[in-house]
Amino acid sequence: MLIVQKYGGTTVANTDLIKNVAARVAKYHAQGDQIVVVVSAMSGVTDNLIKLAKEIMPLPNEREMDMLLATGEQTTIALSAISLHALGLPAVSLTGAQAGIVTDGVHTKAKIQNITPKRIHELLNEGNVVIVAGFQGQTIEGQVTTLGRGGSDLTAIALAAALKADLCQIYTDVDGVYTADPRLVPGAKKLEEISYDEMLELASLGAKVMQSRSVEFAKKFGVVFEVRSSLNDNPGTIVKEETKNMEDIVVRGVSLDKNQAKVTLVDVPDKPGVAARVFKAIGDANINVDMIVQNISHGSGKPATDLSFTVDKADLLKAQKVIDGLKKEISFGQIIATDNIGKLSIVGVGMKSHTGVAGKLFEILAREGVNIDMISTSEIKVSVVLDLAKGEQAMKAVHEAFLGFGAME
Ligand code: ADP
Ligand code: ASP
Ligand code: MG
Repeated sequence: MLIVQKYGGTTVANTDLIKNVAARVAKYHAQGDQIVVVVSAMSGVTDNLIKLAKEIMPLPNEREMDMLLATGEQTTIALSAISLHALGLPAVSLTGAQAGIVTDGVHTKAKIQNITPKRIHELLNEGNVVIVAGFQGQTIEGQVTTLGRGGSDLTAIALAAALKADLCQIYTDVDGVYTADPRLVPGAKKLEEISYDEMLELASLGAKVMQSRSVEFAKKFGVVFEVRSSLNDNPGTIVKEETKNMEDIVVRGVSLDKNQAKVTLVDVPDKPGVAARVFKAIGDANINVDMIVQNISHGSGKPATDLSFTVDKADLLKAQKVIDGLKKEISFGQIIATDNIGKLSIVGVGMKSHTGVAGKLFEILAREGVNIDMISTSEIKVSVVLDLAKGEQAMKAVHEAFLGFGAME
């Protein structure tokens, strides 16, 4: 079998853990499997590199950030190869570029354009374990790029697709995907399986166990993968295409995204083209917008609106700068920016065929005395923005009501 195994930052946080990874790889290798290992930077390393750059200036050049961040994974590939050598196994480490991962040129959020896994195949055929640096690639012009936070997941899934791997395993520090972050909700239960669409929603709504772009990629190319722990042999969670019986469960999971920030433009003139102008500028700056809320005020005075949207906390400064640049052109009142928000979501493909889910969510929040700031829904999720300070309390109550023992479905 050809197996792609990805080991996350906490699973390679020190040399003992890297040796633990090597021992697991050796076990598979002994069975005659061909193994491609994708590793993240050691836990905390990427955060620390970002911190160093920001000590120098708040918005560092993104090409240089990629140059900097790519070093994190380069440390772990070499240490992992050395750990395998120590066990007597042939192993070769490769950077993203050496592994043939070609991306576009959008620094810090590059998209994989194609993978030429010729070198990987050669090394595997010579009997090596191949260790690839996650999270990084190279443009055709030779610029180093990174794939967005959590991007080693994407490296693993994309390699599994390109290599037509028999198995893709994502090793992390929890036993699988749970009904909620097990660190925040002690009663959370491990799921045996989850559909791509549910995993995608949970991931993009704050369940950082998988990078959302990697799940999108897996869905597009039909890569079935397993999320499991590097510290035991328990079966993990299988992520795959939806099956009919998955719709029996209304809410599969609850997530809380603490990484969002909200920008409000106050008193925006009510005329065509304003939203287009704002979000074109935000899009041109490569900032992802999540929720958008606008409603014309029909009170006294001339019609105007408040326009609110949410972005990743990391993009807040950049978004404010872009909006500031539009002030003359659009003449709105003021900008209010806050990162004191949380986004709580419930996700499940069963919502397609069940009613009353949103109402029940709002009732629980009311009971908890939690005010709802923004609401957005899709076919398989309901999200609300609320005060960050109340986020965890609300999440526990919502999980208990929808997924706790004795919860009614
Ligand atoms: P890695 O370094 O292995 O990529 P991450 O820290 O990115 O690991 O993701 C694993 C973490 O995701 C877990 O430690 C857990 O706290 C968090 N998490 C959030 N939501 C969930 C969920 N629904 N199920 C499992 N883990 C979750
Ligand atoms: N090291 C990168 C990060 O911390 C990529 C990853 O861990 O997946 O975001
Ligand atoms: Mg991760």
